[in-house]
Amino acid sequence: MKRLINIFFNDNIKSLKAYIKTKELFEKKGFEVSQKYREEAELNICIGGDGAFIRGVHNSNFPKIPFVGINTGTLGFFQEISFDKIEKFIDDYLEQKYFVEKIRLLDCDLKTNDIVFTNKCLNDFVIKSNNSEVIHLDIFIDENHLETFAGDGLIISTPSGSTAYNMSAGGSIMYPTLRGFQLTPLAPIFSKVYRTISNSLVIPDTSTLKIVPLENQHKKISFVIDGIEKDYTDVEYFEFKKSLFKLYKLVFNENWYWINMKDKFL
Ligand code: NAP
Ligand code: MN
Repeated sequence: MKRLINIFFNDNIKSLKAYIKTKELFEKKGFEVSQKYREEAELNICIGGDGAFIRGVHNSNFPKIPFVGINTGTLGFFQEISFDKIEKFIDDYLEQKYFVEKIRLLDCDLKTNDIVFTNKCLNDFVIKSNNSEVIHLDIFIDENHLETFAGDGLIISTPSGSTAYNMSAGGSIMYPTLRGFQLTPLAPIFSKVYRTISNSLVIPDTSTLKIVPLENQHKKISFVIDGIEKDYTDVEYFEFKKSLFKLYKLVFNENWYWINMKDKFL
């Protein structure tokens, strides 16, 4: 049986070119390539930017098969391979010159109308106002009430997601393999009326973070998972904790994170 690679790519001419090139090179080496997720594959390749990586992960439902990203434009923080290094990537892959990095994911159990829905994220969950008004949320860590938040909203991010929305909102950058997650406020109000911590908070991954909208807030909230807005209504609470699932990413250069940081942000 032929070895199989799944390749997903976004709607961009350079991504299509990268797909054709990658597919041809793998086929020359005797591999089969699928554009749809197939669970017999040994590797998932996402071609595009971070959005393409995130969609590849969600569309294949967070599989155990490792991922690698080829960057063809935009930022591509998840994407280690550049267009002109595709040949080298395939040679290194065949010679197993890589290691597998664990990406830590977050779960959110969300209760609405007596049903609990579980969602996973790679980057972040965002709870925010859907009508430009201030929202009010009670925050509990391991059942301890921390504060009643007032402001635009909250970002709950994984270590890998810390360089995305979290970073724009002033949160810390967390190395992807660190065990913890981050709660970062969006425009928190701190005044004689509202007492909200304005720093971002790093929470150990053994803890549970519970967010409860105040009584009259249920219709004012929108919930976003990895940049995609969901239409849950009347949420009674959100409970965030480390996911039992992990994602695996091939890493070819052990310094990729710091190289990427300088290359993409500075
Ligand atoms: P997008 O609107 O293209 O994302 C915004 C930017 O964030 C893009 O430049 C994207 O890279 C980059 N990005 C995504 N994940 C990243 C990560 N882990 N580290 C560093 N940069 C990252 O939408 P998208 O591509 O579907 O990404 C969804 C993410 O966008 C959400 O999870 C959220 O974190 C982020 N977002 C950020 C802001 C903000 O910073 N103000 C607002 C809303 C959403 P590419 O250009 O390569 O796609
Ligand atoms: Mn994008």
